[in-house]
Amino acid sequence: MIHPIYNTPVTASATQTFSEDDYLEDPERIIGDLINEHENCPISTYIGEMEKWLRTQLTGLTRDIDRIFIHCTGTATNARVSSIVNYWKNNLGWRHPGYHLIFPLEGFTALQDLNLPSNGVRGYNARSIHLCTIGGLDQDGAFSDTRNNSQQQLLHAAVQIIHNHIPNADILGHNEVSNKACPCYDARAEFAYLKQ
Ligand SMILES: [Zn+2]
Repeated sequence: MIHPIYNTPVTASATQTFSEDDYLEDPERIIGDLINEHENCPISTYIGEMEKWLRTQLTGLTRDIDRIFIHCTGTATNARVSSIVNYWKNNLGWRHPGYHLIFPLEGFTALQDLNLPSNGVRGYNARSIHLCTIGGLDQDGAFSDTRNNSQQQLLHAAVQIIHNHIPNADILGHNEVSNKACPCYDARAEFAYLKQ
């Protein structure tokens, strides 16, 4: 079976968010516009841009957050953000994107305001923030931790910033509440250093 978001070209990143109305209207166009803005930046630039976005979002946060969920897309590492977003919208019919922040092999894309839910784990979304790295399948199609250095650094930076603002929120992997491989590593153990 060829997954619809499998084996597509590597894309870079984005540093803006867009509204649910935009998402419903034309996610391909919006993501494309964002992706072209920042490419081949040093990791520190991406972290700085992401921190700016997160700080604005967290300052305005009125939604109660109990959990920070860590995900992978369960795809090849080069799946495009726009393809993933289109899959949610067109194949699954989702009104909200699957995650708030997603990390391609380079950079990040903010998919959803933190005050709105995203569709990461059924039954938990109302009070959760969902973060996701693209990948999770190795070259043989087996579940694996495929994160590169950029994805690890940006994911950890994002969790740290959110944790500092919401220290009581649990930090856990999708696989702790669902019978899924996602995120293909022990997220609770990896982020335990923030809880000490
Ligand atoms: Zn997941």
